[in-house]
Amino acid sequence: MRRLSVPPIRVLVPGLILLVAVLALLFSYFVIRPYLLALSFDTTRSDIRYSLNRLQGTLEYLLARNDLDGVRREVAANSARRDVKYLLVIDPQQRVLASSSLADMEQPLSAVQVHFSAELLQQAAAGGGVQIEHVDDENTLYGIASLRFPATAELRSSQRGAVLLELDLAPHQGMRRIEQLFIWVAVAILLLGVLIWYGFERHIRRRLKRITSGLASLERGDYDHPVILNGNDELAQIARAMNQLATSLALSRAEILSQHARFDSIMQHIPALVSIVEAEGNFIYVNECFEQVYGSDPSGTDRQLEDVFSAETAARYRELNAQVLQTGMPIQLELSTRVQGREHRWFMVKFPLREEGQVCTVSVDITEKEHSEQLLRISRRIFENTTEGIIVTDRDRRIIEVNHSFARITGYRKDELLGQPAELLHAGGEGSDFNRRFWRTLRTQGRWQGELTNRRADGTLYPVRLSVSTISGRDGDINGYFAIYQDISAEKQAEASLRELAYYDTLTGLYNRASFKQKVAEALRRMERFDEAFGLLFIDLDRFKEVNDRFGHEHGDLLLEQVARRIEGQLRELDLACRLGGDEFTVMVPHVDGDTDLAVVAQRLIDALSQPYRRDGEEMEIGCSIGIVVAPRDGRDVDVLMRHADAAMYHAKENGRGRYAFFDAAIDACNQRLMKIKQGLKLAEMRQELSLVYQPEIDPETGKVCMYEALMRWNSQELGAVSPAEFIAVAEESDLISQLTRWLVGQVARDSQTAPLRGCPVSINLSPRQFRSDSWLQLIREAIDQQGLEPSCLCIEVTESALVEDLGFTGGQLEQLKQLGIRVAIDDFGTGYSSLTYLKRLPIDFLKIDRSFVADIGQDQDDQTIVETVIVMAHAMGLKVVAEGAETDAQVAFLRSRGCDLIQGYFYAKPLPLSQLKPRKGLD
Ligand code: C2E
Ligand code: CA
Ligand code: CA
Repeated sequence: MRRLSVPPIRVLVPGLILLVAVLALLFSYFVIRPYLLALSFDTTRSDIRYSLNRLQGTLEYLLARNDLDGVRREVAANSARRDVKYLLVIDPQQRVLASSSLADMEQPLSAVQVHFSAELLQQAAAGGGVQIEHVDDENTLYGIASLRFPATAELRSSQRGAVLLELDLAPHQGMRRIEQLFIWVAVAILLLGVLIWYGFERHIRRRLKRITSGLASLERGDYDHPVILNGNDELAQIARAMNQLATSLALSRAEILSQHARFDSIMQHIPALVSIVEAEGNFIYVNECFEQVYGSDPSGTDRQLEDVFSAETAARYRELNAQVLQTGMPIQLELSTRVQGREHRWFMVKFPLREEGQVCTVSVDITEKEHSEQLLRISRRIFENTTEGIIVTDRDRRIIEVNHSFARITGYRKDELLGQPAELLHAGGEGSDFNRRFWRTLRTQGRWQGELTNRRADGTLYPVRLSVSTISGRDGDINGYFAIYQDISAEKQAEASLRELAYYDTLTGLYNRASFKQKVAEALRRMERFDEAFGLLFIDLDRFKEVNDRFGHEHGDLLLEQVARRIEGQLRELDLACRLGGDEFTVMVPHVDGDTDLAVVAQRLIDALSQPYRRDGEEMEIGCSIGIVVAPRDGRDVDVLMRHADAAMYHAKENGRGRYAFFDAAIDACNQRLMKIKQGLKLAEMRQELSLVYQPEIDPETGKVCMYEALMRWNSQELGAVSPAEFIAVAEESDLISQLTRWLVGQVARDSQTAPLRGCPVSINLSPRQFRSDSWLQLIREAIDQQGLEPSCLCIEVTESALVEDLGFTGGQLEQLKQLGIRVAIDDFGTGYSSLTYLKRLPIDFLKIDRSFVADIGQDQDDQTIVETVIVMAHAMGLKVVAEGAETDAQVAFLRSRGCDLIQGYFYAKPLPLSQLKPRKGLD
């Protein structure tokens, strides 16, 4: 409902004052003035009555004495009165006897101008008393009284006349005064109103306004603008009181704000969840910690318990809150809830905020604490039940706790141990050096682990594995020590017997690899100390695999035993033999003076081991190769020495079996490079490190290209450009070569599709080894079938040696090539068998004279003769001749003069990648 708006007092009061003034004015004008006027009129009326009565008396007396003059004097005297307008005496005959106007004398009444009404005249004539009449708009009072005239002769009875009086009201004194009074009163009222209004305006209204605006400021909470009012009146007092109030309000507010800030900051930093919930279950406050755990309320509206907790937890909370509100007492409890899928344990205090009917809950997460308590319980159980002995000491190493196992192991009772120094238990045989190291490790690393000897209560010694850790306080200071003892007596015994086993090779009884390494390590230490060189011989049996395959493993084992005995038979007291595994043996020869000593031993061993072995009437023969290293010359650590001995042994094998070889660093380096080439080559194709270059073969008569030779290039990521002369040899040793050839054939097939190779014969090199099988043929067939390689444009280059190994087999392969339409060239002719009789039996198209002969043209008469002969004979057999490696004018001129069909060499062109080949001219 809208409140009726009452205008403010400061408006109301002057308004009222003005209203009252106006009302008073109106009242005096409409009520007092007419009343006073009426009063004055009445006075005039009675005045006229009195005047008429007196006149009546006087005139009747004068008439009775028949004193007409007296009558006229009397009339004149009365007419002199200011307010008498008209005075007239008429006789019974209605004639004017006397009048205030001389002109009317003796005139009949009808001739005189009178204002009296006929009615009044009749009443007067009838002898009534004084009659008075007032005509409002005339402002004149008419009065009439009858006059008794004495009887005359003619008339026996008295007769009646009348005296008429007209009285002018206007100049009447009373009335005028009243009018004047009224004006003065009105002016006074107005003046008073204005005065009061002005006074109010000046002293009350403005000040009231300041008070009210001051109050409005207070209402807005603005306490900083005091109301200043001078004087000591009530308003000033009110203003002062108000200012005081504002000051104390401001103070209270500051106090409240600071309390609020304090409360807020406590709530913000308290490591607990604080919430306030109303009896209805809606949150009205939660602190930050609470929001971190349960999330904040995005809507900003009051959340219900159910919005935050699970239904079950919310119900429990409602129950607890109701209890708290009902009893008015705080409660403490522990409770579990799930938060984001994790079980949490809370310690909780709930207390009522009584006036508000709200419950405040403070919860502390004790999950971790519970957890650590649980861990502690578990640790305690482990501590008590573990088989290891455990002691805890204080920082002075006095025992403060031991477990059962410890008491059992040492034979002491627990109470005997508590308070004792931990050193009591140690046999102390380790020496002061050990003690220093022990404490240093413990100090720097916080733990020490190792084995030492302890003493039991009965004085017996026993080995323990001890693990000691420092116990540090939060400040990092050492508060004590924690030690775990493991009685390792049994373990030590087992270890000893195991070591026995582990040291020796079970088959031969020689030292095994592990102990050999250990012995070498010892020898190396001696070497460092006493500058004592020693030798190692690596023995690898030759053909042992064949024995194994032929006679079975049992025989193999027996053979190995015999080998061991023979090795032992050749050694001196100090020498040491061992079996590394399989058919590998080593011998360590200490105190070596020179290589000769070792060479002698090696040769003796080779001789001894290559004697035939007899078994069950069977005779077996094997041999051995030996690699020799000398420390420190060939290495200063076990692994390097063994690796070098191994390398030397391989070298010996390469030189032909049944030999020994000393380690040679250069050979080793070479072998290492070969290893790298081998490894790198496996990845070369995948890494796209392979490429092809083409070198033309030119007809010297025409100068035209008749053929290109494809030559492989390998740019290795690790080794840089590697010559094919080097890597092809390595590839030949394994299956890598067929992989390379597959790539080669494929690449040539692709390149042959583009100019200038399109339609031009290309020769490719095949390595001799490949000719042992015919898988390469399959490769070429595939390239022809699938990649569109044109067989008539393909020439295979192969060295003699590849062909003569098994002439029948290779002949067959070449036949197949022929059938496909592929041509064949013999490469490097002159370096191998150089037997043309062989070649007669093979389907060959070209002979390529080796570079070395061409290079000697003009220098070596013999080679020059050979070149001439080869050309002549080849032509005789229907073969064409290609000369390789022509570099000079002279060589080309010579070859041309002898009728060489094609020339290949730097003189014409170096091998170039496909993109850099010049377009061929005139070849079709
Ligand atoms: P090759 O078959 O006798 O190849 C000719 C070699 O002589 C090439 O060396 C070539 O660059 C070089 N040469 C050519 N003209 C001259 C010259 O005027 N002066 C001199 N000093 N040298 C000349 P490259 O390319 O280093 O090849 C070496 C060998 O590697 C080849 O001898 C060949 O036996 C083998 N080879 C190259 N590519 C392949 C291949 O793809 N497969 C197989 N299996 N072997 C290849
Ligand atoms: Ca070649
Ligand atoms: Ca060649």
